[in-house]
Amino acid sequence: MALASCLRSAWKRPSPTCRFGLERRELRHWSTGETWNWFDLGDKSIERFGTPHLMLHRADLHGLLADAVRSLKPDAITLNRRCVSVVSHAGYAEAAFDDRSIVKAPYVIGADGIHSKVRVCLFGPSKPIFTGCIAWRGLIPMEKLPHRLARMVGTNWLGPHGNVLHYPVRRGEIMNFVSTSERDDWQVESWSTVGTRQELRNDFRDWHADVQAMIDQIETPYKWALMIREPMPAWSKGRVTLLGDACHPTLPFLGQGGVMSIEDGYVVAACLDKYFGEPGLAFARYEEIRRERTSMVVRKASENKASAFAPSLADKDRIAEEGRARVAASSPARADGVVI
Ligand SMILES: Cc1cc2nc3c(=O)[nH]c(=O)nc-3n(C[C@H](O)[C@H](O)[C@H](O)COP(=O)(O)OP(=O)(O)OC[C@H]3O[C@@H](n4cnc5c(N)ncnc54)[C@H](O)[C@@H]3O)c2cc1C
Repeated sequence: MALASCLRSAWKRPSPTCRFGLERRELRHWSTGETWNWFDLGDKSIERFGTPHLMLHRADLHGLLADAVRSLKPDAITLNRRCVSVVSHAGYAEAAFDDRSIVKAPYVIGADGIHSKVRVCLFGPSKPIFTGCIAWRGLIPMEKLPHRLARMVGTNWLGPHGNVLHYPVRRGEIMNFVSTSERDDWQVESWSTVGTRQELRNDFRDWHADVQAMIDQIETPYKWALMIREPMPAWSKGRVTLLGDACHPTLPFLGQGGVMSIEDGYVVAACLDKYFGEPGLAFARYEEIRRERTSMVVRKASENKASAFAPSLADKDRIAEEGRARVAASSPARADGVVI
């Protein structure tokens, strides 16, 4: 309830000039810049889903979620402590932190990403697999972009050996830039490794002038290697479980990694609510509900990698074909309700 009201107030326009939802998504040709309308959002999204199509800055989403939790329990969140170990006991679980504090709780849920410490404590170390792709991301103040690019439109550039995606966040004040390219010389998966504009330019050196204009205005380009892991047969032990990238990291070619973490969080909370005193049952039901969908997303995202990097995408007609195929497949998959 608290989250729903935060989201409602987040997209309510404070003034008629303040923009929120995306108008549409378009596809563009990496070299000629030719543009295809992919699908309309704007009023269509409100008509169909009852809300505008929002693209959120991750920090804004975190802020909304944190506010919603704190409105229910002001001291629920503690920041800046690194978990160093977790242990499951018969009647409780225990998490130890790098400031030497220890928290005892009925359950511990490790939502600590692809390098999850909680996963290592439960199942031992395993090496992530480098996928041969690196991603770049960066933020661009919208006012620094030429008028033709400063639009409430999400754009996917299709091209050989890489792709570029940009879309406005934070009410259109910032353009988020994300690109992926095939490279095998960078293998540190990290959110915060700073690259250089020159290196990013080099990855997209022959691309259209609008891509170059974006790259020129990125404040700080970050780069990271894209990693996955072998699927895990189980995510839980005793009173401790995992969610999101900690148990099923995925490639970004389906745009569903963050979505899966949120869905996992919802389902594990509902399972614990229903079977609170029975950890075995609660986590078995959680895994049972989530396994098929998360495996399908991880598999399809990997399959999409091949089409994202097809060399034939250098051919304009193939891109048009690809555009039409994407338009045909653009009806979003429904997440059917589940009975916990
Ligand atoms: C290029 C790219 C594009 C993407 N695009 C999309 C998209 O369009 N849509 C989508 O849904 N997903 C997308 N994703 C995937 C998405 O970013 C991840 O799947 C998602 O962030 C996973 O969320 P998470 O909460 O499981 O893990 P994370 O987001 O990695 O969060 C883990 C958190 O745990 C913290 N942490 C780690 N270790 C510890 C510790 N020991 N103690 C305490 N805290 C710890 C970290 O600091 C971090 O805050 C994309 C990913 C990439 C790389």
